[in-house]
Amino acid sequence: MPSYDLIVIGAGTLGTFHAYHAAKAGQRVLLLEKDRYPIGATVRNFGQVVPSGLAGRWFDYGRRSLEIYQEIQQQTDLTVRQNGTIYIASDADEWALANELHDRYQRIGYTSELLSKTQCLVKYPSLQPDYVAGGLYFPQEMSVEPEQMINRLLAYVQQKYSVDYRPGSVVIDAESNSAGVTVTLSNRTQFQGGRVLICSGHEVRLLFPDVLAGANLVVSKLQMLLAEPVAGLELPGNILTGLTIRRYEAFQECPSYANLPTPDNLAELKKWGIHILFKQATDGSIIVGDSHEYAKATEAEDLGYHTQDYINELMLAEAQRIVTFPLTIRKTWAGFYSQTKDEIFEYDVTDNIHIITGIGGKGMSSGAGFAEATIGRFATN
Ligand SMILES: Cc1cc2nc3c(=O)[nH]c(=O)nc-3n(C[C@H](O)[C@H](O)[C@H](O)COP(=O)(O)OP(=O)(O)OC[C@H]3O[C@@H](n4cnc5c(N)ncnc54)[C@H](O)[C@@H]3O)c2cc1C
Repeated sequence: MPSYDLIVIGAGTLGTFHAYHAAKAGQRVLLLEKDRYPIGATVRNFGQVVPSGLAGRWFDYGRRSLEIYQEIQQQTDLTVRQNGTIYIASDADEWALANELHDRYQRIGYTSELLSKTQCLVKYPSLQPDYVAGGLYFPQEMSVEPEQMINRLLAYVQQKYSVDYRPGSVVIDAESNSAGVTVTLSNRTQFQGGRVLICSGHEVRLLFPDVLAGANLVVSKLQMLLAEPVAGLELPGNILTGLTIRRYEAFQECPSYANLPTPDNLAELKKWGIHILFKQATDGSIIVGDSHEYAKATEAEDLGYHTQDYINELMLAEAQRIVTFPLTIRKTWAGFYSQTKDEIFEYDVTDNIHIITGIGGKGMSSGAGFAEATIGRFATN
């Protein structure tokens, strides 16, 4: 039976970055993915690497993730573009929060710039002037093309660090024994590892279903839109807007957040968890999203297989309140991730079988740095 130091289950961003850090530290790593290629949250997102929106240790992991993406980008093209993040405030309350967050980042040495309404419109001429009160800009933040990023990272860890990556491998069991852990696939193939790490995203039924059913994981369904390129349009970086300021954890820690009123025109959008973000892909198309609907992870099918036109129309109407160019929709999709009130679900089934999932909406921004910390912790115990 083939034997490894570490077997990672799930080749989304979390699993793959854990495999990367372990292999880089000299471990023999097997990475098992149930699908023929990753098709979960990791390929359905914006590809925004935005630590500025994160709170607590996740901000630190995000900051470190920026460095890790750059380090790998110097070795192989992960599609990393350091083209910044802007939060566009649309009213006085959002602008106050932007100023408060700017002050905090000034104190801890994380570069941010406040842009006046005029500066925003010069830098982003396709914004609707009536929408803009001011902007908070983070020049060091990045974006990636999510699908290309994960596939190129998978190729890189195989070539550079000899990670044994096996897609099409549905893991159905992991059992501790005197030699370590035996992992079994649905076709009965077995592998032996010193340690097993399960990064299975919102899949909660294949491995340790009792543990995952008791984990209070919630699945979020997000609707996304892809708009056709517009001739001559350049939208540099990640463009986040007023509803994002009202939603992201970093702003929730600001003093005026506790008394933030919700204007009537935003109530229906908030009901569907909508905030509007834009990211232009390298082919010129524009990703626009997103909305949030929730169900218990064990009842995720109740979220449905469809996308709701009503939600897409709400998002489009709000997006057109923000930008002047036409949004001609090429395709729509839904993405799913699991999350927990405790920021992430980490559970030791035994001292050498670990579950790490439920990173929520922050995996592309903080997963690389978080995985490095986990692998470092494993090395010391
Ligand atoms: C629409 C959307 C937009 C987002 N935008 C952003 C963004 O811009 N920036 C950001 O930071 N984050 C964003 N996120 C969040 C981010 O995408 C997730 O946090 C991250 O991708 C989660 O990664 P993961 O590896 O935990 O899960 P996944 O990507 O779901 O990967 C889990 C993998 O495990 C595999 N697997 C499960 N069970 C088994 C098994 N038994 N055997 C083998 N394989 C198994 C699955 O097939 C899957 O490939 C967004 C998410 C969505 C849905």
